[in-house]
Amino acid sequence: MDARSCLKLLREIKDVAFATVDENGNPQVRIIDVIIVEDETLYFVTARGKSFHKELVQSGKVAITGLTKDFESIRLMGNVYLVEDQKKWLDRVFEENPVMNGVYPGESRYILDVFAIDEGEMEYFNLNQSPIYRESFSLKNSKVTEKGFFITDECVGCDKCRENCPQQCITEGEPYFINQENCLHCGLCYEGCPVESIVKRGK
Ligand code: SF4
Ligand code: SF4
Repeated sequence: MDARSCLKLLREIKDVAFATVDENGNPQVRIIDVIIVEDETLYFVTARGKSFHKELVQSGKVAITGLTKDFESIRLMGNVYLVEDQKKWLDRVFEENPVMNGVYPGESRYILDVFAIDEGEMEYFNLNQSPIYRESFSLKNSKVTEKGFFITDECVGCDKCRENCPQQCITEGEPYFINQENCLHCGLCYEGCPVESIVKRGK
């Protein structure tokens, strides 16, 4: 799995959730079509009259998530921008997605703007395997936020975290070790360690 494969999965799902924040600071979420994915860039469209358009332009950011039929979830949090040469891109969008002619026939398509995302971080999360599997990726060298927990040298090897971990993803050692790709980020080990040797990542 890599960022390119995750973007392709979002295109296959096609109708995914796009989250923004409105002018009052309230969260908003909408189902939007992923219209084109090419060269580690995701494209989508919306009309200039919509609140969604305004929120995208004002913040320059969007969060996207989709779920495959195999219960793989993909997340993308990134910076969004209006592409250059809107007419060329819109004509291509309608050529590759002819169903859109039913909603915006003829010249009315030009009330739409094409946005792109090629910068941000992505996460692949598969709950349909045991143990679960997760992996994070960067788009265009963006920083990936570290999440979850790690075990410090304060660990005294009591084994409590390994015994209780719901995904059995803690390995014995000096110190004990969390297999990050299998971790739920549930925090059970963090709350239960008797010597507080487990800390949050990214702090
Ligand atoms: S619960 Fe804490 S001290 Fe015990 S093994 Fe786990 S990390 Fe080490
Ligand atoms: S956060 Fe949860 S899943 Fe991850 S290692 Fe700790 S107990 Fe296990």
